[in-house]
Amino acid sequence: MNFIDLRAQQKRIRSKIEKAIAAVLDHGQYIMGPEVRLLERQLAEFADVRHAVACASGTDALLIALMASDIGPGDAVFTSPFSFVATAETVNLLGATPVFADIDPVTFNLDASKLAAAIQDLRDRNPSRHPLPKDFRTIRPRAIIGVDLFGLPADYDNITPLAGREGLVLIEDAAQSFGAESRGQKACAFGAIGCTSFFPAKPLGAYGDAGMCFTDDETLAAAMRSIRNHGAGSDRYDHVRLGLNGRLDTIQAAVLLAKFDIFEEEVQLRQEAAARYNRLLADIPGIAAPEIFEDKRSVWAQYSLVARDEALRDRLRADLKAAGIPTAVYYPTPLHLQPAFKSLGYQAGDFPVCEAIARRIFSLPMHPYLKAADQENMARLIRSGAKP
Ligand SMILES: *Cc1c(COP(=O)(O)O)cnc(C)c1O
Repeated sequence: MNFIDLRAQQKRIRSKIEKAIAAVLDHGQYIMGPEVRLLERQLAEFADVRHAVACASGTDALLIALMASDIGPGDAVFTSPFSFVATAETVNLLGATPVFADIDPVTFNLDASKLAAAIQDLRDRNPSRHPLPKDFRTIRPRAIIGVDLFGLPADYDNITPLAGREGLVLIEDAAQSFGAESRGQKACAFGAIGCTSFFPAKPLGAYGDAGMCFTDDETLAAAMRSIRNHGAGSDRYDHVRLGLNGRLDTIQAAVLLAKFDIFEEEVQLRQEAAARYNRLLADIPGIAAPEIFEDKRSVWAQYSLVARDEALRDRLRADLKAAGIPTAVYYPTPLHLQPAFKSLGYQAGDFPVCEAIARRIFSLPMHPYLKAADQENMARLIRSGAKP
């Protein structure tokens, strides 16, 4: 059994993808060809955002968004310590400082009240209530990166007004949540800029690296188009700012267009798979199934369970593995405890909710083509493994 079954999807659309790639081979515009612009138009319309800027990866999308927002040395960027490394790495790469706030134990996303406390304590230069990075005396609040972990939009009902009150730029790390919704609004539309990833294993995945930035702001869109192409100005060798080679390959855009045709249906299949898991797992003692919210639609990039303790988590994973069922842990080490961020000066115990979840969480196979019988089998193994 596969953790994510990309083959089942490929079987459905293989001939379409081959045709789409062949069309690129025929016209030969491998970089920023017509498929890239078509993909930008289609996905902007889908996310109900005015501008989409395709780029080379989700990491580049974050980097480009931060650069377009003028984030740099002396800037504090508030975000979740429970995310993929790229969320905070891009902040550090620009010389800015990630400032973490703890997560909510049910959604695994930023806890807006802790976020508010982190902002206030940084303004007060007071690390006694909320852990702050070592350079708290010299940095000023500039931005928030909300992370839509596992495909569930972050708590924008509270984060967006907070960013507004505090005068902070809100960037949405929607790398896992393209296709998700909250109160009818699509993921990628919550911040000044939404950033997504089309890494093959994400809900909408390419056959290589790819990403996209979304914004309603014309000026930001123009800046991001320039940054993704070496800070280009009016012509090819006119460079008005520093940028990078963050362009999207045309072949990846062609693959994504073919996959996008069945994406809505796949998002629906993910809802059904998640609901089935929940029905099968809801009443097992020692195991917490993820909550399904009425006003939010997750795209279930991951289906994650929280075990009573680390020993039970590890035992259940071993039981499943013995039965040929792969599981994964996202994320075993919170960002504030990663060696790469050592210079921030955070310590174990700084974000207790995140640290406890990291020890107890694990993810089951999740993709649109999951079979009910396999889910029932997994539930049976988990039920018997969870017996005291
Ligand atoms: C995957 C991911 C990224 C990075 O995307 P890439 O396309 O792999 O560069 C950033 N943030 C989060 C939360 C992710 O899951």
